[in-house]
Amino acid sequence: MNAHLLRLTLAFHAVSLPLTRAAETRPAYTEIRKIDCHSHIFEDVAAFDALFRRINLRTINVCVPGGDGRLEEMDRVALSLYRKDPTLYPFTTTFNLLDRDQPGYTDRAIAWLDGAFKRGAVGVKIWKEVGIEIKSPAGKFILPDDPIFDPIYAHLAKVGKPLHAHLAEPIDAWRPLDPDSSHYSYYSTNPQWHLYGKPEYPSHAAIIAARDHIMQKHPTLVVLGAHLGSLEHDLDGIAARLDRYPNFHIEVAARTRNLTRHPSEKVRALFLKYPHRILYGVDAGWMPLRRPQPPTDAQRQGHANSLELRYQADWDYYAGTGETTYNGRKVQALNLPRAVLEQFYHANAERLFKLDAAWAGKK
Ligand SMILES: [Zn+2]
Repeated sequence: MNAHLLRLTLAFHAVSLPLTRAAETRPAYTEIRKIDCHSHIFEDVAAFDALFRRINLRTINVCVPGGDGRLEEMDRVALSLYRKDPTLYPFTTTFNLLDRDQPGYTDRAIAWLDGAFKRGAVGVKIWKEVGIEIKSPAGKFILPDDPIFDPIYAHLAKVGKPLHAHLAEPIDAWRPLDPDSSHYSYYSTNPQWHLYGKPEYPSHAAIIAARDHIMQKHPTLVVLGAHLGSLEHDLDGIAARLDRYPNFHIEVAARTRNLTRHPSEKVRALFLKYPHRILYGVDAGWMPLRRPQPPTDAQRQGHANSLELRYQADWDYYAGTGETTYNGRKVQALNLPRAVLEQFYHANAERLFKLDAAWAGKK
């Protein structure tokens, strides 16, 4: 490079870099529309509506599980919220697992799904019960790539509905309880899902491989891996699968806390490399139908308040700069560019779930 060119290049960098940064003003929290793509809101609560409108957010209400006999009840509540406000409460459905050993199972499951799609469901959730709970008549755990489900997956691919897949668990479920783990409180209070020392259960790797096998068998099925695809401990493993399976996407629900424990530059690089493949979500549950007593208004407002704090803390991590506090720990904010935030917070969910993007500005 000759001296003249070098001087020009230096001048270009010296001028252009600050200009680029100045042009990229930080978007305001309420300005970017947000979709919580993994939400369980099963009651009509004015405080939730008010919060979502105020912070420019809508949720995708997830009906799950398929193995407790309450699918129709969940569907009714999700549907009533959707009919009340289709903008705020799009919903996904799931399929019944209880009659899986009866003749005509997949035909019935597909007929149910088609009915739900007619009512407005935008996708289908499959839950960890497939892999670590339900068993065949011979007493073997049924893995998610079991051929019994193939007609269902093929149908979803055909009608263009994504499979939202919470399969396996965080790797910590297979490890000894560790008070420093971000999943310690869950596994210490839900021992039925803590699989360490229970060799009869499939391994984490076996369930992840089965999930990957679905994507390989059904390459046009859009798969959204819930909770970082249960690879919260392995950003390289996530990237490898995003490379290998063009139909694979992930969402961050209940795993932002895991991201904050990785080096922020590495997390940021993942978002910059796969801006069209990562979706925002929180996985907060409000399910009075599972409680013995109806909640009080104070509890409803309390849930709205904690949800707002969660959304704000997430935003500070993904969109903020410098140091921020997440779950009581000091972490480095990701400072994601606006274009990436727009994909992550709403455009990817709008595309995958074919949501009406015309809700911008509706408050
Ligand atoms: Zn969930």
